[in-house]
Amino acid sequence: MDKQDNHKVVIIGSGPAGLTAAIYTARANLNPLVIEGTPSSTSNQPGGQLMLTTDVENYPGFPQGIMGPELMTQFREQAQRFGAEILTDKVTRVDLTQLPHSIWVGDPNKPEPTYHTWSVIISTGAEPLTLGLEAEQRLIGRGVSTCATCDGFFFTNQHIAIVGGGDSAMEEAIFLTRFASKVTVIHRRDKLRASKIMQDRAFANDRIEFLWNSTVSNLIGQNRLEAVEVINRVTNKTSVLDITGLFIAIGHRPNTDLFTDQLHHKQNGYLLTKPNSSHTEVAGVFACGDVQDDVYRQAITAAGSGCMAAIDAERWLESVGHG
Ligand code: NAP
Repeated sequence: MDKQDNHKVVIIGSGPAGLTAAIYTARANLNPLVIEGTPSSTSNQPGGQLMLTTDVENYPGFPQGIMGPELMTQFREQAQRFGAEILTDKVTRVDLTQLPHSIWVGDPNKPEPTYHTWSVIISTGAEPLTLGLEAEQRLIGRGVSTCATCDGFFFTNQHIAIVGGGDSAMEEAIFLTRFASKVTVIHRRDKLRASKIMQDRAFANDRIEFLWNSTVSNLIGQNRLEAVEVINRVTNKTSVLDITGLFIAIGHRPNTDLFTDQLHHKQNGYLLTKPNSSHTEVAGVFACGDVQDDVYRQAITAAGSGCMAAIDAERWLESVGHG
């Protein structure tokens, strides 16, 4: 193995948590390697969920707000300015059972790992949930979307719908009214989960209407979404809603598949870290951001926990003589 393939810190994931960890470890002269991921079915570029977000109004330091992708570009440039190396690829396997830890990129069956590293910072985030309907994967990108920012523009002057009752659904519904003639929010209960301020904004928007106690039971259309079937959970009646676009905003699942057999996690899949720290139970392995946070899930809390992970890694490396 090439000497270059031995690292002090490898950061997996490039959202606010991973890139903050990169900024801090780079400034500590630890020469971090960030493996940032690749485009996926739900995201056309690495950088985490902010790449799919429109206006971010609650990230401190931007009184007028900032677009999510622009914020992530700035995080990335800041990390690179201090020497963080960024690799656009996917980790396919890890072995955290012995030090240094082993990381594979590309073929996971290769006997030799691609990288050895004394510490690993896991910041793989979470990904959008989907409805689990048969036609969903076929129609993704053909009228069905999990990203209003990416796809809203395609629905100018059309009637579209969004599934979900949380902050994401309200934020996206409001954003989509910039393009669509009407946005129907399909929610499975008769009350929203979203914060009061987002509810008030959505209720005040006359292009948004609500279909309460309703779930989408079928997607109609072969090559393109033409309509959805909706069941009213109170009356059990099925109706057809003629829409050309369906946005799904029903929450997220942590990206932990690489680690579930090697690290402790909660029942809902989120990685467990020791109280008030980013340490997992494995020496030299740290977790930060949405992959371990099922409570706050904000860009600012992810960035804060990325900072914690960097400091924890730096102190741990020092303690084992690799600082
Ligand atoms: P969330 O709060 O978990 O809301 C998910 C919504 O989808 C809920 O209304 C839920 O219904 C519904 N849902 C879940 N599974 C469903 C299914 N299979 N079929 C139909 N509906 C389903 O997720 P989120 O909106 O993505 O927000 C995640 C976190 O990020 C929250 O803490 C939120 O406050 C935060 N956030 C904040 C902002 C902001 O401040 N600007 C923006 C976005 C997100 P029930 O209500 O019935 O459970």
